[in-house]
Amino acid sequence: MKKNLKIGSLCVQAGYKAKNGEPIELPIIQSTTFKYDDSDEMAKLFDLEKDGYFYTRLQNPTNDAVAAKIAALEGGVGAVLTSSGQAANFYAVFNICKAGDHFITTNEIYGGTYNLFRVTMKKLGIDSTFISSEATDEEIQAAFQPNTKLVFGETISNPGCAVLDIERFAKIAHKNGVPLIIDNTFATPVNCRPFEWGADIVTHSTTKYMDGMATQVGGAVVDSGNFDWMAHAEKFPDLCTPDDSYHGLTYVKAFGKLGYITKLVAQLMRDLGSTPAPQNSFLLNLGLQTLHLRMPQHCKNAQRVAEFLSAHPKVAWVHYSGLPSDPYYERAQKYLPNGSCGVLAFGLKGDRETAIKWMDSLQMVNIVTHVADARSCVLHPASHTHRQLSDEQLLEAGIAPDLIRFSVGIEDIDDILDDITQALDQI
Ligand code: PLP
Repeated sequence: MKKNLKIGSLCVQAGYKAKNGEPIELPIIQSTTFKYDDSDEMAKLFDLEKDGYFYTRLQNPTNDAVAAKIAALEGGVGAVLTSSGQAANFYAVFNICKAGDHFITTNEIYGGTYNLFRVTMKKLGIDSTFISSEATDEEIQAAFQPNTKLVFGETISNPGCAVLDIERFAKIAHKNGVPLIIDNTFATPVNCRPFEWGADIVTHSTTKYMDGMATQVGGAVVDSGNFDWMAHAEKFPDLCTPDDSYHGLTYVKAFGKLGYITKLVAQLMRDLGSTPAPQNSFLLNLGLQTLHLRMPQHCKNAQRVAEFLSAHPKVAWVHYSGLPSDPYYERAQKYLPNGSCGVLAFGLKGDRETAIKWMDSLQMVNIVTHVADARSCVLHPASHTHRQLSDEQLLEAGIAPDLIRFSVGIEDIDDILDDITQALDQI
């Protein structure tokens, strides 16, 4: 295939190329295992001495083709698909951190990731410090400990829509000899490629825009291949010293730029699973084929919705980085010059009941937990995902009690605005 294809061509064609007489669409290799005539050949696969498939928990041709497409889209050297975005973020961190280690993360991250880091990973002995994504350089620096192994953030936070200064965070992480991991779910590589700003590893919930049709739950971890693990070998012994569970193999020595991603497959996928079904990867690939067409439409519609809401007398506030009045507008011009995404956050004048009444009055826009879908959808975290929290607790988690998350879809903008208007008329 021609080198340096543009993002739209990569969305359609990267990862799988049919050979003479083969199916043009990515085949679904729905098989748990792969047959070999020779037992020695199989042994070499187990020793990572030879490339090849043997068991789908580790690798599968359909999954690998889609992972290769996502790696190409992000400009990385390799990627792994996981069975959810949660698994992707867990693996991205757990591939580097073990009990006794520590990492730094921004406060504004998605609630599921927040719980994973603050509660579940803590139970595994991995500690984290939460800092504001607007922390000063000095405040970020002060969060580092001798056992800090990475820094984590989201390009665009869910649900608050904060835009991260990736370049600044990358510089501080690197000054401390650790990588920056960025969850790029909302921006997608169509609108931002965090590796170009110094991030080292990118994660995705592919459940969102990458799929776009709400057909599968999935995730991805992508490696830029840029982080020099060996230069900080004392911090990353599992990558830079022999692995007993792989006959003394040292990942970074044996696989170079692919060391991190190879370890993730060979160790974490082997021991923990979380492999997507090939059928799901096929569905994800269908979504990816139109990602470059859908994202500009999401952004165009969201911009119109943000402008409409911010001018409406019943609306208290709107967060969308495409609005010149938004605190993230300038930063978005740098990191997201072609648009951010279709998700915006806003509050209605009134209380929780006002938000609920407005949502219940919607006719075309759907109330769902999901986000970043072709269909417009809304969620009120205070009534849904975070309903167990009091207003005070919500504010502590960085979520205004009146915050409504509006995921603007790709329907006709006139119909979206009509639906919003008729629902506003009822409150
Ligand atoms: N990261 C972000 C930014 C998300 O919005 C989500 C889910 O909403 C996740 C990760 C988790 O992904 P999944 O639901 O696919 O497990």
